Amino acid sequence: MTPKIQKFLAEAKDREPFLVVDVDVVEHNYRELRRLLPLASVFYATKANPAVEIIQRLEKLGSNFDVASPGEIELCMNQGVTADRISYGSTIKKKADIAWAYERGVRLYAFDSDAELEKLATAAPGSRVFCRVLMECEGAEWPLSKKFGCSPRMAADLLVKARDLGLDPYGISFHVGSQQTDLNQWDKAVAQVAQMFTLLHEADVDLRMVNLGGGFPARYRSDVPALEAYAAAISQAMTKHFGNQLPEMIIEPGRGLVGDAGVIQAEVVLISKKDYDDDRRWVYLDIGKFSGLAETMDEAIKYRIVTPHDGGPTGPVSIAGPTCDSVDTLYEKADYQMPLALQVGDKIQILSAGAYTTTYSSVGFNGFPPLKSYCI
Ligand SMILES: *Cc1c(COP(=O)(O)O)cnc(C)c1O
Repeated sequence: MTPKIQKFLAEAKDREPFLVVDVDVVEHNYRELRRLLPLASVFYATKANPAVEIIQRLEKLGSNFDVASPGEIELCMNQGVTADRISYGSTIKKKADIAWAYERGVRLYAFDSDAELEKLATAAPGSRVFCRVLMECEGAEWPLSKKFGCSPRMAADLLVKARDLGLDPYGISFHVGSQQTDLNQWDKAVAQVAQMFTLLHEADVDLRMVNLGGGFPARYRSDVPALEAYAAAISQAMTKHFGNQLPEMIIEPGRGLVGDAGVIQAEVVLISKKDYDDDRRWVYLDIGKFSGLAETMDEAIKYRIVTPHDGGPTGPVSIAGPTCDSVDTLYEKADYQMPLALQVGDKIQILSAGAYTTTYSSVGFNGFPPLKSYCI
């Protein structure tokens, strides 16, 4: 927690839970990524946290933006981001939305299927396009499964077809899974991509770009490798498989830029037991799955939680949100411990909560308002 955030929390008068993001930390993370991977262009994955102050700061720093909807394009452009700094990186777009983006000057698009390619050819003629290949996402705490990407052999065919349709087959993208902690995953992915470059060269399609996606971590309960190690793994994979003919590189960090920059402050609403001789307490907070903590789904993301009594004796707890839905339980199996001195009314802090929280909160389930957000 930065001194700036500590001061903000000490003075906060809010009755509802809120997220506070130190935008200087976002800037620091951006500069670190640029320093460690100087050859890669950064396209911030806007969905991770679309706060205007974050977009503005990254815009000033020269970042590019990865978007998935007209709404995100408009948001970025309203902060001064020009169309040439936008990648429409979703593989699932309505034709009308592609046309809308094209009209505003966006010329870089992702696809992973024949049908999407057809849409791009008619609604965004001549644009640079890249094909997303399927990854296994092993080792990722928030895997992206089979939803995105196609097999390498299908991708190769589609990139040839892209050229035949008058599009510019620009490159290949992948995403090794969010909060990826197994650094070997990039080597596996880049090896496949390099093979595809060779294969396509034989078909007279010379790709120029590798989009290495996101996957950079935030600091949750388990330790993660240092950013230096991620950068080294990526650089080594690229030189190992491409030699001295390095293509252009794009990275799309979301979580890695904003995750550690934010802290949620919430309140303990109730502490109870299910029977007299249980030693497990149930701790109910005024924030839950429906007010921003959606990534606790299946207990996937395990946030660090700070209480006013840390350091004292602890006991096992289940942690749940305030709404009348049993799905709104955050941690039951993940072996969380909290101080025995914890009391109703205590303020607690959920660390590294800057990514995938504010926009994941419902509009008002059970009358609880969406998660408030401050940028400082
Ligand atoms: C969400 C997303 C990202 C960001 O992933 P992180 O793991 O949060 O860095 C990057 N690229 C694409 C295409 C995405 O959809």
